[in-house]
Amino acid sequence: MRVLAMLDGTLADPEARHLRVDDLGLIRGDGIFETILVVAGEPRELGPHLDRLARSAAMLQLPPPDRPQWERCVRVVLDAWQGDSEMALKLVYTRGPEFGDGTPTGFALGMPIGARTLRNRATGVRAVTLDRGYEPEIVARAPWLLLGAKSLSYAVNMAAIRYAEAHDAEEAIFIAADGSVLEGPTSSVVVVRGRTLRTTPPSSGILPGTTQGALFRAAEQAGWVTKVEPLTFAELTEADGLFLASSVRKITRVHTLDGVALPDATWLHGELGALYESEYR
Ligand code: PLP
Repeated sequence: MRVLAMLDGTLADPEARHLRVDDLGLIRGDGIFETILVVAGEPRELGPHLDRLARSAAMLQLPPPDRPQWERCVRVVLDAWQGDSEMALKLVYTRGPEFGDGTPTGFALGMPIGARTLRNRATGVRAVTLDRGYEPEIVARAPWLLLGAKSLSYAVNMAAIRYAEAHDAEEAIFIAADGSVLEGPTSSVVVVRGRTLRTTPPSSGILPGTTQGALFRAAEQAGWVTKVEPLTFAELTEADGLFLASSVRKITRVHTLDGVALPDATWLHGELGALYESEYR
């Protein structure tokens, strides 16, 4: 099932057409989004997702999202949902129609989690590293590149996943021009060595992940060390475990990187999964 609520809080038919054909979100990818995991009616990390929506809006110079209005809109979808226990809740906020009065378009759409995502959560994935084509130092110099914004311009990210799929993998990991590790097209990279978790810093032009944030919070409470610092490709292959984290995929294990099997991290995957779930008990 699917549930759609417009930003003004009205429920709408998800099978009907709602967007104007000149909406800038549609014709230029000029807008932002969030995807939130809802489990048993509880949205996970709603606060950090709304914070990040506001951060992306600021980067794109969109009107600041009205937080109480978004919270109401989310509530409308949650209350109307009668599907599976887990839902992917997408918030979309665009610049609105071209030559309009500047009123943004906003809606929240609740959907089931895709079969592919559920399968990958259980089995783990093969990933390939792909060149993202920028030096991390360009991030501060070129804010118009919107690196690290969760913009609707995800065609490159989707193309990277298709490229991975055409090359015997389910996932991709982007590498910067200086060789440092960035993120997946729709996930954060987490590397484990001993009792230390590491991920790459948002200053390298990546999206600060809410799932990675929740995992690190839980890990710190359980006595693990967490580090947010640049990672090299060698650190991916030398790790005890390599994981991709995101709201809908949770903590997914990478078992093969660039065609080479990584050390078996099944047990570590169980441990990280339990740490992450402990945040929601
Ligand atoms: N990085 C990118 C580029 C993403 O698109 C996503 C989520 O879709 C993430 C990281 C992970 O973010 P989160 O854990 O908040 O879902």
